[in-house]
Parts: sequence; C-alpha cells; structure tokens
Amino acid sequence: MATYKRPDGREYDETRKIEAKVGVVKRADGSAMFSFGSSRAIAAVYGPRQLHPQHLQNPEKCLLRCYYDMLPFSVAERKRPGPSRRSTEISYVTTSALSPVLKLEAFPNAVIDVYILIIEADASTRCAGINAASLALAHAGVPMTELVSAVSIGKIGDAIVADITKEEEDYKIKKDGKEIKAATDIPMAILSRANKLSLLQLDGKVTLDELKEAIALGKKTCKKIVEIQKQALKKVKEE
Ligand code: UDP
Repeated sequence: MATYKRPDGREYDETRKIEAKVGVVKRADGSAMFSFGSSRAIAAVYGPRQLHPQHLQNPEKCLLRCYYDMLPFSVAERKRPGPSRRSTEISYVTTSALSPVLKLEAFPNAVIDVYILIIEADASTRCAGINAASLALAHAGVPMTELVSAVSIGKIGDAIVADITKEEEDYKIKKDGKEIKAATDIPMAILSRANKLSLLQLDGKVTLDELKEAIALGKKTCKKIVEIQKQALKKVKEE
C-alpha cells in the first residue's frame, strides 16, 4: 500500500475539476476550452485551407501545424513572451498526438493550423492543450476517427496518481539529510476506442511495472475524459 498523501486531498485516481466548453472563439473554424483545475487551455483551429507558400503543399495530404504557448502571467514567475525550446517541443508532441485520428488525406495541398494558448498553468498543460485541440478539431468539422484525450500521470513518492499539479511535480523527500526529487511526470494521450497511445513522455524514473500501472491509470482516466469531451461537443450542437 502506498503512503503518499496528495496535498489537495484527492484520491490517487481522481483528477482535478474538469471543465470543457466548445465554441469559445467565434472567428475560428473550431475552438474549445479545456481545464484541469486551474490549468486552462484554449484551442482555436483555422482550416483546412489552401497552404501557402505553394512549395510546402503536399498533394497527398493536409499539413497539420500545432502551436502551443503560455501567457506570460499564466505562471507564478512571469514567462518570457514568445517561443522557447519547451513550447517548440510541446507543439511537436501535440501535433504527433493528434495526427493519428485525423483523416488528413481528405484535404490535399491544405493546412490546418491549431493554436493552443495556456491561460493559467498548474502543470499538465500539454494534456489540457491536447484535449482542447482535439475538441476544437472536431468542432471545426475535420474528419476524425475518434477524439484524443490526454492526462498526466505521476509517480509521486510511492504512489501512481492521476492529473498531477505543479506542487506534486516538485515533490521532494529527504534522504541522507538531503532533499531529492521524488516525482516522475508521465504525460500521455490515449485513443480510447482504438486502445492506443499517441503520446507517452516520461520525466523522471520508474520501473517497468510502475510504467504499466501508470498507463493503465491513464487509460482509465482518459475514458472519463473522453465522455466529458463528448458532452461538451453535444452541448454546442444543441445550442
Ligand atoms: N512552468 C512555469 N514556467 C515555465 C514553464 C512551466 O512555471 O516557463 C510550470 C507550469 O505550471 C507548468 C509546469 O511548470 O504547467 C510543468 O511544466 P512542464 O514543462 O512539465 O509541462 P506541463 O506539465 O505543463 O505539460
């Protein structure tokens, strides 16, 4: 039995409050907001539209471009505006997490741009961004095999927990009089129907069995998340 106690009193398999809303950016072709507690992302989709310059066009399929960024005051210590190595990496993994569900061959020579902005951040923002982007793409009417859902699973102390916060990401224990990091962050994106992962990252250390446990918890959590996403899409259709 694990002994770690979550600072906000949540169960190990409990996420923060999830909110999802579709159609939050009127000028976009599709848009959505998704939040885990105070980690909040807005995604706006533009396209599919013809790609310029022409030499970038692919006659076989549409180009998907995702841009992730955080507002400077979304975090406790102001983030310098503009792209960084971190935002470039997250934009890249977001693109590859979403690509497997999109029927990009339906739009040769075209581009779909997905802008993801983090309004407030308390860890797991790449996952909130993927969830918002997946909803925004569906709202834009892009043909998809299914929605993508993402969550950050963590090994914090001796426990595998769902939807970690910044405080949990920074969790330390005392060993031989020294403070050492005792948190591993494992963000993942799941295609629930296909039962496949489209993103798996790992920052820290875990054993193979712990990784398997983390993936199982990720899949279980994403089954709940995808239902919330579907409800949000249904709501906007009814409006
Ligand atoms: N963070 C920050 N300043 C930065 C980048 C990140 O304070 O410039 C915080 C923010 O709360 C973020 C968390 O660190 O959510 C974890 O960042 P990470 O790179 O692990 O990505 P995330 O967990 O947000 O997907």
